[in-house]
Amino acid sequence: MTTNVETFQFQAEARQVLDLMIHSLYTNKDIFLRELISNASDALDRIRFEALSRPDLIGADEKLEIWLESDPKERTLTISDNGIGMSREEVVANIGTIAKSGTREMMQALREKHESSETLTTLIGQFGVGFYSAFMVADRVTLVTRRAGEDRAIQWESAGDGTFTITDSSKFSRGTSITLHLKKFEEDAEIEDFTNKWTIEQIVKRYSDFVAYPVIFKDKEGKEADKTLNSMKPIWTRPRSEVTDEEYKEFYKHISHDWNEPMETWSFRAEGRSEYQALLFVPSEAPFDLFYATGKFGLHLFVRRVLIMERCEELLPPYLRFIRGVVDSADLPLNVSRQRLQEDRHIAQIRKWLTKKVLDSLEEMQRKEAEKYVTLWKQFGRVLKEGAGFDFDNKDKLVPLFLFESSNDPEKLTSLKDYAGRMKSDQTAIYYLTGPSRRAVEHSPHLEAFREKGFEVLYMVDPVDEMFVQWQTEFDGKPMKSIAKGTADLGDEKSVEEKKPEFEKLTEALQKKLDDRVKEVRLSARLTSSPACLVVSEHDVSPNLEKILSQMKGEAAKQKRILELNPNHELIAKMRNHVDDAALDDLAEVLYGYAVLAEGSELQDPLKFNQALVRVLAKTV
Ligand code: ADP
Ligand code: MG
Repeated sequence: MTTNVETFQFQAEARQVLDLMIHSLYTNKDIFLRELISNASDALDRIRFEALSRPDLIGADEKLEIWLESDPKERTLTISDNGIGMSREEVVANIGTIAKSGTREMMQALREKHESSETLTTLIGQFGVGFYSAFMVADRVTLVTRRAGEDRAIQWESAGDGTFTITDSSKFSRGTSITLHLKKFEEDAEIEDFTNKWTIEQIVKRYSDFVAYPVIFKDKEGKEADKTLNSMKPIWTRPRSEVTDEEYKEFYKHISHDWNEPMETWSFRAEGRSEYQALLFVPSEAPFDLFYATGKFGLHLFVRRVLIMERCEELLPPYLRFIRGVVDSADLPLNVSRQRLQEDRHIAQIRKWLTKKVLDSLEEMQRKEAEKYVTLWKQFGRVLKEGAGFDFDNKDKLVPLFLFESSNDPEKLTSLKDYAGRMKSDQTAIYYLTGPSRRAVEHSPHLEAFREKGFEVLYMVDPVDEMFVQWQTEFDGKPMKSIAKGTADLGDEKSVEEKKPEFEKLTEALQKKLDDRVKEVRLSARLTSSPACLVVSEHDVSPNLEKILSQMKGEAAKQKRILELNPNHELIAKMRNHVDDAALDDLAEVLYGYAVLAEGSELQDPLKFNQALVRVLAKTV
């Protein structure tokens, strides 16, 4: 028999991850076992699923199991399963050469967050490189696998040194067997002896008790009977009062591949005509791919405790995609297909029910645990806001959950309801200002008169807010109004109207000078201390949205704006003396540039502005 040995280089990022594992100072090295058992369990789920359509893949009375076997003398620990196994191509693709989608992002995040063992473990989990954790405890790893339906077995081996080999191998039965050649055991080191049966049993109980397949310890010497180490009870079928927080956390880590603990755990049960259960989790941190088109989301779907699909996206609307968990339904057929799911009325029913449950739970959290809710909002608020444009049935439940920054208290977020409660008696609208950042919005001249009057203004600085304010034109009967659009209806229009004749010549002259960029020059009722600002008409897009859209199209923003002048400002008053002389050219340029910068936008022609500014300064010095 030819063995056909081939040596491969680890793909660059995979190699970096591996190096981190090998040199990791992380003390909970025992999680390697959880990762390998979790992979074995995934592989068993897959064979069980494939066998639904190809029953020949599994022997008639074959049991799906995970075995652990240790050899203290040789210092090896072997984890085996009779799951789906891997073909030669799959081994190469899944373990080693081709960067997994998240690896590059993980290395990036790691560099940004400054490598610490804590962020390392968090990231490793988030980016799904669980297999490599074997190298935290082993200096050599040998994997032998045979894919279901194939008669050829493959051996993969690496000492974590940048290369791995792939060899043909002989393996009698389907599945995967991973042998860890454990690092030297030192009594005083923090690392435990992973060949010790008692140690192994503790680790399995701690991390993998809920795994749905028996994890069996095989006694090498045959002195004792093989022992099943885990209880295997599907956690969502047990009453909440009987499950410990620890068990919920471990289960969450298992299904989400997240090494962090969940922020929140919810268990729901529907009984009656249809029967389904759900165990849902809110992660404590948003995953890196939450806003990527390639991000994969969805809940685990079980039918009578058999896993049907790992990422069933149809069970929750896209704006709740950050939620992880499982749904178990008694009504669906076991062989339900992905295509059929979308039309399935049971799925639609579950989705409706779950959405309501989640929104109710969020509402309750907002009411009873405000601080925790704010933490959740900071991670996932941007996703939730998307819902306002899509889920019209639940909009009334959803929008009150939204929080915004506001001029009321710079440290605190506010809901629209709380804002409405603080509205002044002469205030007719809910005011907001959109912009690229909190700093730009907070210092915008548009706020001045509103601040003076004590009218609160919401700072909308998320890109999605630009969409939100188009979907949400009123709340609780009160119109939502941008303070940078149209005229400021603050009740001072009369005094502005009266001043108009005095400034007519100036506004006309400025209009001429700035005609290429400005469609109107007029007096303003919204300024108190600034000389000028730019606004758009009621139905024009905001400068912030214009910028977002033009960036997407790769073009420069070109919408003409309205320049508003503060008639009470010394500069504007004095500019009237220059309407006929050449000095107005530079003054107009500087004033316009000032207004652009003040709202947080960028100058289209900084050179022109700078030259005008220097000439104005030279005259005054
Ligand atoms: P993840 O489990 O998050 O995908 P891992 O690094 O733990 O990442 O595993 C990488 C891949 O290797 C898995 O997605 C799977 O395709 C494959 N794999 C690992 N262990 C096994 C196994 N015991 N049986 C079959 N495939 C496996
Ligand atoms: Mg894994």
